[in-house]
Amino acid sequence: MAKAEETILEIDLKALGHNYTYLRSKIKPETKFMAVVKAYAYGSDALAIAKYLENLGTDYFAVAYVNEGVTLREGGITAPIVVLHPQKVHFKTLIRKNLQPSIYSKAILSDFIATAKELGKTDYPIHLKFNTGLNRLGFSDHELPDIATIIQQQNAVKVIALLSHLAATEDPNEMDFTDLQLKRFDAVCKKADTLFKSNTLKHVLNTSGIINYPHAQYGMVRSGIGLYGYGNEAHIDAELQPVMTLKTIIAQKHTILPGESVGYNRKYKSEHKTVTATLPLGHADGIGRQYGQGKTYVSIHGKAAPIIGNVCMDMIMIDVTDIECEEGDEVIIFGKELTAHEFSKTAQTITYELITGLSQRIKRILKN
Ligand SMILES: *Cc1c(COP(=O)(O)O)cnc(C)c1O
Repeated sequence: MAKAEETILEIDLKALGHNYTYLRSKIKPETKFMAVVKAYAYGSDALAIAKYLENLGTDYFAVAYVNEGVTLREGGITAPIVVLHPQKVHFKTLIRKNLQPSIYSKAILSDFIATAKELGKTDYPIHLKFNTGLNRLGFSDHELPDIATIIQQQNAVKVIALLSHLAATEDPNEMDFTDLQLKRFDAVCKKADTLFKSNTLKHVLNTSGIINYPHAQYGMVRSGIGLYGYGNEAHIDAELQPVMTLKTIIAQKHTILPGESVGYNRKYKSEHKTVTATLPLGHADGIGRQYGQGKTYVSIHGKAAPIIGNVCMDMIMIDVTDIECEEGDEVIIFGKELTAHEFSKTAQTITYELITGLSQRIKRILKN
């Protein structure tokens, strides 16, 4: 029976390599691949993931914020890194660390040009992001002439890429909307290339876009969730391998009598003699209270044990009455069999939220 010592997040680099190869096989050999490693590489370990992927030939990386890009640069990543949502206060750091901003408004564009000038840059590479229907970040297409004017009046920055982000690439009920977004993006690209007299790189697809809209791969695709082993659809999940396994240990067992309760606010009351096990992880680690009170289960020696009572900050309790186990035994919260997708579904959320919410307190261990 597998033993454990503490709560760990195991990161399977071989699985990462498999997922990368699979996703690359879905695009043309000449299409560039941008690995999205924001939010600690979706809760895993951004630097370890980026190093591994850079070795495999990943062309580009994406992070959300400047500090995430700084971590990669200081760790030795040399490939281009796009910052998807940079804040003005960090523009100087962004430039000093040779990161590429995704610029989404005229105000941000002017601010960025000013900073690039101040640092004496010429042709500093920037990406322009267009809103095609997500209504989150991005220029509107009618701003193109103004953007062209701003760009042509200076030489501190150079537009090297155009991008947009799609709202529902994994949803077959929204195919018409996705097609509309892609049509809008195509129109923006044509207009921009005419106005800027250029032929820039273009990128619009996320993981589910790569799977469902490969005709729109342009010069580059951006993949996050697929690299970590989740495809948003059962038939794609079957092709991918989960990279992260969250494991812990039985810290203590209790046998409680009928009528006794477990945990804060006595949210579990036993009807029969019950054996419980206490695990050293809780809502401070990213396993929130929504998973408590019988909604979710974990796995011990391949058997399902429900989480009972309220999830505490540093501990959860599970019911192991029918499972042969001892203190010190390994417990799988999610991994390859019981997946993060299934785990997150029990609390009506998505894999993205579960894995990116895993706290930095959990020790990361690289495997393979
Ligand atoms: C997070 C993000 C992605 C990655 O999406 P996945 O569904 O994880 O592949 C791609 N593009 C942008 C702009 C993002 O913010």
